[in-house]
Amino acid sequence: MSGGEPLLSGFEDPEEYGFETRAIRAGQPHDSRTGGVVTAIALSTTFAQDGIGEPRFGYEYARTGNPTRHAYEQCIASLEGGSDGFAFASGLAAEDALLRYLEPGDNLLLGDDAYGGTFRLIDKVHGRGGLQSSAVDLTDPESIHNAWTPSTRMVWFETPTNPLLTIIDIEQVCAVVHELGGLVVVDNTFATPYLQQPISLGADAVVHSATKYLGGHSDVVGGVVVTSHEGLAEHVGFVQNAVGAVAGPFDSYLVLRGMKTLAVRMDRHCGNAATIVDLLSGHNRVSKVLYPGLKDHPGHDVAVRQMSNFGGMVSFRLTGGREAAEKLAMSTRVFTLAESLGAVESLIEHPGVMTHASAAGSALEVPDDLIRVSVGIESVADLVADLERALATV
Ligand code: PLP
Repeated sequence: MSGGEPLLSGFEDPEEYGFETRAIRAGQPHDSRTGGVVTAIALSTTFAQDGIGEPRFGYEYARTGNPTRHAYEQCIASLEGGSDGFAFASGLAAEDALLRYLEPGDNLLLGDDAYGGTFRLIDKVHGRGGLQSSAVDLTDPESIHNAWTPSTRMVWFETPTNPLLTIIDIEQVCAVVHELGGLVVVDNTFATPYLQQPISLGADAVVHSATKYLGGHSDVVGGVVVTSHEGLAEHVGFVQNAVGAVAGPFDSYLVLRGMKTLAVRMDRHCGNAATIVDLLSGHNRVSKVLYPGLKDHPGHDVAVRQMSNFGGMVSFRLTGGREAAEKLAMSTRVFTLAESLGAVESLIEHPGVMTHASAAGSALEVPDDLIRVSVGIESVADLVADLERALATV
């Protein structure tokens, strides 16, 4: 549920305010009874009606609409520059709501590097329902033309991608896909709206695992869809209520709180990641560093154009192959060996056997000498020392 109330209570025109101000205020009016500056966690599952079908404040039943979730939805819609936001119980639930827009027999083109769970949802769940899909190298617009069929209706990709950190030119892909009559969905989980706003570059919808940078503290699982496309907004709103995989009030509060500090956290994530990239580049145990901030990264120029910084995710390959990658992942102390990403603490993982195991054997399979780190906001000297020491053991 979105729209209706002012995005910035007490402010005439939300768009005149900067990102950081909107992250703190958009959709979050002061409590009209107490003046509280923090959006309350509204636990009520039902809301009083003044007459039959006349809800007092527009809320009827909490699956359909909840004030805390509503604030969260308005805030993320403002940050992504879209008209409507919808909050779900997880990133995959948000993706599922969008994918239900497609019908049996429709075809979807998926970028050939993506979160393994996204691939699994498209291939194993929606595939069983009749959705056809194929993986495409979206860095080459010709490949969209080559893969396009009369039933293709949607192109879906991440940029930067998980875990190879490939950069896709959002504006270019949108131009090609719109010309062909399709819709574009961008998973903006890695970049966040602070670094990149796909809707302003032509995307029809943005999806997030809010579990990552939006929440930012590894304490909430969630997902959002933001769109300005009328048909998609109507569809996602309908599915959100009809299926019911909504974000609960406490989860909504946690993401809303996380988003208030998104800008400052992202600045630190990016700064720390750049220092880690300096350490890894040229290190004799590292055969390749994948980071869009590197001048020799194939997507660097596009990243400079469409992102305001290069993010906190860094992937790299080890000269010692899989054995070295596994040993490294188990040798760090400040970087915790764990799945997930985007929170204040640094994490290290082996995508091949952890987050991307479900893509094994597919076009999205990742190399087994690959390590992915989510660079946190700790003291950068500690992060450098930790990785240096661990690299010396592999
Ligand atoms: N999109 C990306 C890029 C992800 O990395 C993930 C999870 O890791 C998801 C979507 C799925 O989100 P969730 O785990 O919140 O369901």
